[in-house]
Amino acid sequence: MSKTPSEFTENTKEVLARRAGQRCSNPSCGRPTSVAHTDANRAIMLGEAAHIFGKNPGSKRFDPNMTDEQRGSITNGIWLCSTCHKLIDTDEAKYKSAILFSWKSENEKQILESAISKQTVKNPALIPVLDLYHVIGSTGGPKGHFRTFKVISKTDSYAQDCSFWLEGFGYRHDFQVTPGLSLGKDQTVDLKIEMEINETTNPPEKIDDLEFNMSYSGIDGTRFVSKRKINQFAVKTNIFNDFSLGKFIPPAIVQDDNFRIEKFEKLDNLGGGETGLFSIDVGGEKKQVKIKISSTLLATWGFTKDSQVLAALLKIGEVKIRGMIQLDNLNDYTFTTYDFPNDYQSGYEGFKKACYLLER
Ligand SMILES: [Zn+2]
Repeated sequence: MSKTPSEFTENTKEVLARRAGQRCSNPSCGRPTSVAHTDANRAIMLGEAAHIFGKNPGSKRFDPNMTDEQRGSITNGIWLCSTCHKLIDTDEAKYKSAILFSWKSENEKQILESAISKQTVKNPALIPVLDLYHVIGSTGGPKGHFRTFKVISKTDSYAQDCSFWLEGFGYRHDFQVTPGLSLGKDQTVDLKIEMEINETTNPPEKIDDLEFNMSYSGIDGTRFVSKRKINQFAVKTNIFNDFSLGKFIPPAIVQDDNFRIEKFEKLDNLGGGETGLFSIDVGGEKKQVKIKISSTLLATWGFTKDSQVLAALLKIGEVKIRGMIQLDNLNDYTFTTYDFPNDYQSGYEGFKKACYLLER
């Protein structure tokens, strides 16, 4: 029997299936539409090309103003599994054409992005997960108090070449570990640090945004970082802040954008603000970039001490430089209140928000 123009040709069906990555386009389904048969020479096809605007009078979403050629064209088709095909042709009120068009374009976009992404799609089961599970405080040391951070590996996958550091606003401590340290399931490592007590402040100042960072590779060499936020609280004697575990941030792939800060220094005050000079390496090319923060912004954020200005320049400068490299537009830059017209806020929270806005 020959086909009417409103039916899809075999070629149209095949292209629809391929553009959809052989997956059902319904975002709440997404199942593969081509799977293995027990016969090694065969595959089972579960997918169907569905008409968005109906093929015949009386079929769902039929539009009398369309021609049969338009009804049978690939733009009027969506790739679905047989279950979802039945679903959309049963409940026309719920599955309107606009929804189906958005399913189709979203799925095609996702498939395309995952195919061209630098990172291959990971099997989550293969991603190693390290977590900080305990902080033990504290025995007195010559300068302060020792704390022991206990890290555990939570999955079957080995975490290789592990490194750890504690970082907050204007603070960083790198833990020394055996080179190439690997951790398997339920294996732990203890990391000890002596944190100085500042006798002049009582209680000592908290470090803003303190986080414990765990960096490691999976079996294929992909690098991950997971983190634990650290809550700080003053102990009764008020001579130091103790720590408890905050929110866990699961492993994310470390993007290698070939950018490294080799040297950072604050320049003498040139007026109107503070300036940092970054000596950087971008894919082997050495460059220098000046990042300045206006006096108004520094005052707004409450950064008066040198250590605060340094930390702010380093943090916001790095974020800005990364962004400029991505846009291939690396230049000296001065931050003023105009950079954050709608969201420029005071205090440390305002600074955090500014960094967050820049990172997006
Ligand atoms: Zn489906």
